[in-house]
Amino acid sequence: MSKDDVPRMKTEIPGPKAQEILERQSKYLFYKLPTPLPIVWEKAQGAVVTDVDGNRYIDLSSGVLVMNVGHSHPVIIDRIMNQVQQLIHSYFAPTSAQVDALEALASMLPQSLQRIMLVTTGAESVEAAVKIARAFTKKTEILTFFGSFHGRSYLTMGMGGLMGVKKDFGPMPTGHLHAPYAYCYRCSFGLELKSCGMQCLKFLDELLETSSKGDPAAVVVEPYQGSSGAVVPPPQFLEGLREFCDRNDMLLIFDEVQAGMGRTGKNFAFEHFSFLPDIVCLGKGIASGIPTSAVIVRNDISDALRSLSWTSTFAANPLSSAAIAASVEILVEENLSAKAARTSEHMLERMNEMKLRYPLIGDVRGMGMSMGMEFVLNQETKEPAPKEAMEIFMNATRGGLILIPPVGINANVLRLGPPLNLPDDLTDKALDIIEDAVHVVSQG
Ligand code: PMP
Repeated sequence: MSKDDVPRMKTEIPGPKAQEILERQSKYLFYKLPTPLPIVWEKAQGAVVTDVDGNRYIDLSSGVLVMNVGHSHPVIIDRIMNQVQQLIHSYFAPTSAQVDALEALASMLPQSLQRIMLVTTGAESVEAAVKIARAFTKKTEILTFFGSFHGRSYLTMGMGGLMGVKKDFGPMPTGHLHAPYAYCYRCSFGLELKSCGMQCLKFLDELLETSSKGDPAAVVVEPYQGSSGAVVPPPQFLEGLREFCDRNDMLLIFDEVQAGMGRTGKNFAFEHFSFLPDIVCLGKGIASGIPTSAVIVRNDISDALRSLSWTSTFAANPLSSAAIAASVEILVEENLSAKAARTSEHMLERMNEMKLRYPLIGDVRGMGMSMGMEFVLNQETKEPAPKEAMEIFMNATRGGLILIPPVGINANVLRLGPPLNLPDDLTDKALDIIEDAVHVVSQG
């Protein structure tokens, strides 16, 4: 396949073969797909996805920020195939594959964060972090943020700050406090960053004084909010949370399920700051598509909890362990974090230029290879433009991009999360397609 053949659109979406599969699927599906233009994937290589009708797309989703090293990386395939032939499952019996995975992750982590629990999904890693925080602090309340997404289990839904995730599912677990995130483009306090005095941090003291029952255990925060539309807080917000946690004897938990493994331009998002969190949740890119996740815990916290009981059927299974070790190796050897930072800088620059040309683009933001374009009807009033965001998404999809459908509290943010090693020529092609889509929709 030559690079000139990507994207290559041969049929409508969905094409005839895709339609046949979707019809078969619809007999059994009891929830709706989040997109009006479902693409039935057949195979993928690097940042290129081919559907069952032979259409080729540039993948700007990484399968929801999972395939950080790109699809079908030869090292991942090789290690998984070898492991499959040796041993797939062992329950809690230790294996060398598991220890290799632990050593690989630990080699990237600071000396004080060397205790690791492998679990299976992102939500499970957040749940595990909360259990650890409650067991260690002997307190219960968990402070989380408006717009946050931590998973779809009951605990993590309750912690989350997006109504759409909880709707229809009855009462949520208690024990959570919610506060505004530093979404400066739409500040909950109606303030501007240059003069706000970080009101969102000040509010936290008031929240504890008024709404807490007096036993706050931890703050759980995403270093950037992906599901709310790549909302990147100013560094002083996260720094202030560290100070707030220290002052109130609370643990600071970074949910890096999405932000970890090179995504933000560093191996872990916490490396952007001069402080450390106490617990870090990892998932998604950690095993390049083999379902697994991890909780990283401060050494002294885990040492105090040696008597905890913990097993889980699939946790630390040999297959996901082999995929973790291989993913870490690729991340380090190919220096993918640095590549992510470089490509992101170029993409954000081009997207900011587009913002000057198209009033529909209200805000452009990002942290490494996780970026967002927020669409508005008017740059001054910032009135959200969800309909236009959906049209842009559909046009860009038809132009040959795999994109995550618009996200955010107002469903008006186009979110970009390509593989970290997206080749330069595909980067520019993808941006051209996005610009064309914005152009067409801007013309009405
Ligand atoms: N936390 C964050 C920040 C996430 O982005 C996600 C998934 N989008 C989760 C937790 C939940 O992960 P999973 O879907 O693997 O349970």
